[in-house]
Amino acid sequence: MENIDWKSLPFAYFKTDYNVRCYYRNGKWGKIETSSSEYINIHMAATCLHYGQEAFEGMKAFRGEDGKIRIFRWEENAKRMQRSADGIMMAEVPAEIFKKSIVKAIRLNTKHIPPFGEGAALYLRPLLIGSGPQVGVKPADEYLFLVFVSPVGPYFKEGFSPVKVQISRDYDRAAPRGTGSIKVGGNYAAGMKAGKRAHDEGFATVLFLDSKEQKYLDEAGPANFFAIKGNTYVTPKSDSILPSITNMSLMTLAEDMGYKVERRPITADELSEFDEVGACGTAAVISPIKLINDRDTGKNYEYCKDGKAGPVSTKLYNRLKAIQEGTAEDKFGWNYIVE
Ligand SMILES: *Cc1c(COP(=O)(O)O)cnc(C)c1O
Repeated sequence: MENIDWKSLPFAYFKTDYNVRCYYRNGKWGKIETSSSEYINIHMAATCLHYGQEAFEGMKAFRGEDGKIRIFRWEENAKRMQRSADGIMMAEVPAEIFKKSIVKAIRLNTKHIPPFGEGAALYLRPLLIGSGPQVGVKPADEYLFLVFVSPVGPYFKEGFSPVKVQISRDYDRAAPRGTGSIKVGGNYAAGMKAGKRAHDEGFATVLFLDSKEQKYLDEAGPANFFAIKGNTYVTPKSDSILPSITNMSLMTLAEDMGYKVERRPITADELSEFDEVGACGTAAVISPIKLINDRDTGKNYEYCKDGKAGPVSTKLYNRLKAIQEGTAEDKFGWNYIVE
């Protein structure tokens, strides 16, 4: 194992030894190749560079207390990447190629998988881009599917401690019938200005409202939003939200733990009625939220008055993490054991 200070790893790019690539050419996917280069060589007229034919996934591999390496619900990531590809007219990566590629990328970089108990994991970044040239606006004839890995620490430097987020109305992330529900880079580019300003003003991220009426809660930058109201887990229903696999799993766990689960439109006004609120996604599992600032009205909604995450968020977080790391029963068959 490498001599790495796992405990203080940031959520950032970290050079590892190998990445895995597969090309789609002449209407079919080729062999899975291994590369030790951090660079890709593509045509300057590639559609990913000009017309945004780009989609990605984010997932994690964990080393358990038992030494086994687990990946969480990879089939869901494979399906979602196919939906993303379909949404922006790219060639879909078959699930088998997706799986073989992530497994190969993990096996080739085992020395970079953080040990159990350090709060770190091996982040997997599958990427699909239009690599063939076009000048007219058309889908490419060639695609590159690539998987690189990077050992990471928690997404928000606070870890599992409450963060502040901001609502504003002068930037939208995604249009109602646009690309908000697929995992494409364009959504992130569209959210960067709002995100940067929120950071500069002291917030971890932006909580986006629906862009049509600016009335309903959508999601929190790179993570879904959820709230606890009494014995109910509530999360927004909207066509412009990316369906988070973490959120889907938390809904299942909440139900399993005896909570009611509601997926419905949530107005910003309802924020004052919640007991706990949080953001959820692969990167952090749950980031509890202690304050939501409405930049336009100046109103603040406060949670976690004792400075700590709420009891339901904490229970959900602990259970999901324990399943991912193999210390709790994998009751729903979510893990795939790599070795
Ligand atoms: C990836 C992503 C999420 C989180 O999804 P997970 O599958 O839980 O990691 C949430 N929102 C957006 C916009 C995303 O891109």
